[in-house]
Amino acid sequence: MASISTQLEQVRKRVDKACTDAGREPRCVTLLAVSKTFGPQAVIEAVQAGQCDFGENYVQEGVDKIAALAAWARTQDRASPLRWHFIGALQSNKTRAVAEHFDWVHSVDRLKIAQRLSEQRPAHLAPLQVCLQVNIDGGMNKAGVAPQDVLALAQAVQGLPGLSLRGLMTIPEPAPDQAAALRVHERARGLWQALNGQLQQPLDTLSMGMSADLEVAIAAGSTCVRVGTAIFGSRSAAA
Ligand SMILES: *Cc1c(COP(=O)(O)O)cnc(C)c1O
Repeated sequence: MASISTQLEQVRKRVDKACTDAGREPRCVTLLAVSKTFGPQAVIEAVQAGQCDFGENYVQEGVDKIAALAAWARTQDRASPLRWHFIGALQSNKTRAVAEHFDWVHSVDRLKIAQRLSEQRPAHLAPLQVCLQVNIDGGMNKAGVAPQDVLALAQAVQGLPGLSLRGLMTIPEPAPDQAAALRVHERARGLWQALNGQLQQPLDTLSMGMSADLEVAIAAGSTCVRVGTAIFGSRSAAA
C-alpha cells in the first residue's frame, strides 16, 4: 500500500478537483481523516503530512489516541493543536468522556445526548462543536433524527450553553449509481438550507461524503468530507 502521506495527497487532490468542478473554493471543504481502528503511529504520519482534523467512532479508542497524540505533540515543536471529531454512535453512559476530550461531535441525534454533553463539557474548554446526524434516506434501523424532527432538535440544541450547533451530518446508504448518490446529498443540502432560514444562528457545516462518494457530496454542497479508507487503507473485518 502507498504511504499515508501519498494517500493523503491523492485525497486532497480529489477534494480540490471536486471543488473546482463544482465551481467552489477548495478551502471551503474540510478534510476529516477518519483514523478509527488505526493506531497513533498512523495519525502521527498524517499529522506530519499536514493533517489537523481527525475522526473517531469508538469512545475509548478515541480517548486513548488523543492522549497518545498529546504526549507525542509535547515532544515536538508543534504550534497548531489537532482537532478531534467524534463521529460514531453515542450512548448516554459514554457522553462524559466525549465532552471532556473531543472538540466536535457529528453524531448528535437526540436531545438527551445533547443535554448530557452540554452539562458535562468542562467550563475551561470552548463549547463542544456539534452537528446533528440526520437519517436522510429513511433507513429503518439507522441512527439519526428524522428530517421532519430536525428543526425542533436544532432549536433545543441552540439553547444549550456547553454546545455550539454548527450543522448537519449524514451517512447515506450506498447508492446504486452517482446520480442516485447526488440526489440523496442534494436532499441533505436542501434540508440544511431550509433549516438555516429558520434558526437564530446560521449553520456553516454540512458533514457528508466519505472515501467512495466525496466528489458527489462536494458537488451537492458538503463542507466537510470524512475520509478513512482512502487515507489509511482498508480496516480489518472486525472493525
Ligand atoms: C468510518 C466512517 C467514515 C469513513 O469511511 P470510509 O469509507 O472509510 O472513508 C466516515 N464517516 C463515518 C460516520 C464513519 O463511521
